Amino acid sequence: MAVSTTKLDCGESLHSTFASRYVRTALPRFKLPDQSIPKDAAYQIINDELMLDGNPRLNLASFVTTWMEPECDKLMMAAINKNYVDMDEYPVTTELQNRCVNMIAHLFNAPIGDEETAIGVGTVGSSEAIMLAGLAFKRRWQNKRKAEGKPYDKPNIVTGANVQVCWEKFARYFEVELKEVKLSEGYYVMDPAKAVEMVDENTICVAAILGSTLTGEFEDVKLLNQLLTEKNKETGWDTPIHVDAASGGFIAPFIYPEIEWDFRLPLVKSINVSGHKYGLVYAGVGWVVWRNKEDLPEELIFHINYLGADQPTFTLNFSKGSSQIIAQYYQFIRLGFEGYKNIMENCAENARVLKAGIESTGMFDIVSKDVGVPLVAFSLKDSSRYNVFDVAESLRRFGWIVPAYTMPPDAQNIAVLRVVIREDFSRSLAERLVTDIQKVMVDLNHRWTRTSTVAHVVPEDKPVGAAPFKKSVRETQEEIFRYWKALVDRKKTSGVC
Ligand SMILES: *Cc1c(COP(=O)(O)O)cnc(C)c1O
Repeated sequence: MAVSTTKLDCGESLHSTFASRYVRTALPRFKLPDQSIPKDAAYQIINDELMLDGNPRLNLASFVTTWMEPECDKLMMAAINKNYVDMDEYPVTTELQNRCVNMIAHLFNAPIGDEETAIGVGTVGSSEAIMLAGLAFKRRWQNKRKAEGKPYDKPNIVTGANVQVCWEKFARYFEVELKEVKLSEGYYVMDPAKAVEMVDENTICVAAILGSTLTGEFEDVKLLNQLLTEKNKETGWDTPIHVDAASGGFIAPFIYPEIEWDFRLPLVKSINVSGHKYGLVYAGVGWVVWRNKEDLPEELIFHINYLGADQPTFTLNFSKGSSQIIAQYYQFIRLGFEGYKNIMENCAENARVLKAGIESTGMFDIVSKDVGVPLVAFSLKDSSRYNVFDVAESLRRFGWIVPAYTMPPDAQNIAVLRVVIREDFSRSLAERLVTDIQKVMVDLNHRWTRTSTVAHVVPEDKPVGAAPFKKSVRETQEEIFRYWKALVDRKKTSGVC
């Protein structure tokens, strides 16, 4: 910031409690400013800029937790200066992490005794967890191929085209080919039969998703396990399964205990889950657990000696905060099985309320399933005049942040809106959202009736030299749509998390 003097202007500090003298000039954006400013001015300036961010509670695009109990906020603030990696100094935090790993492994039915410690690790999120799980599969496959004297330079991974973008990241960063099972209209998850068909001797694992990011639908891991077992028997391979339960890992055990998707299935060797999604912790925590010790190659583990005990670690990062781990443990003991079940039931119920409300407008098709992650994904029955991107844009006026996106191949012609139901999205908010969607639809219909009349009076062939901004409303709308579409295509699914 170009502040000409560091001398305090007494008059100003007397008459103004606002950081006004520091906000008269443009804020520093490229170079570190030469001079310091008072702490309250810095606070004011940043706080004001942040007012223009969306309201996290109204961000219906994300699964990530936006509300926690004040008691937990207190614990997190108290630990904000603790570096997780200093295990010697903070042995209790390390112990809390280990307890969380055990609880998650038991929740996912890992074949371990009641008091046996599980194999797993806390991460920054499911993305890091997936990198680690993927690395373990890759290394295990390579070791086996080397031992057999076979080439080990072309590993691949089989997934559905609906995978979250972090799998593409894993594939690119760690040089594994991603073989995607294409979707089709009306079928938006990986087809287990097609996936197993794509498996070859270079497949390090098949990754199934428990709770597709796009529609919340659970993939059929049980059928995948069965088909893959048969294929393994025929071929003599031992292709394993990883379950990406980022969003569904804290849903299924509580409200769909009968669905077999976890370590109950023998080929499932590792599972990741996002602590910061339905694990109910603020952004910054994920988990990966392995079935057995043998599923995590020893050479990937680093051993830290703390208080005379061996603490194995396997992460991509070194330093990180401790608060999220502590918060996860808080949620586990505070809520228990009963509490999580209750919250997930509530979310599912609110999803049903919202779904019914959206259906009652008569203008949308529901794309999400009743069983799955509590969300409502819906598409327009008629997109000839306006599309889901217009609906999303219009909902912004009411403060709602609802993402719109097109489906991955081969269902790209389907564009949907998606509302994620989190714990803090109450029934009354669901009802209000329905009311606002109704208003938006009335408005869009109205606007488009008017637009077609306006479009008539704007001459299509503008004389040379005419004002360049005289586009017809229709042209402008189409341009915006093309822009949006290009943006969405480019981003693919990375805008939703
Ligand atoms: C959110 C999500 C991820 C990425 O998880 P982060 O915790 O945000 O890193 C991966 N896979 C699926 C299915 C997801 O929903």
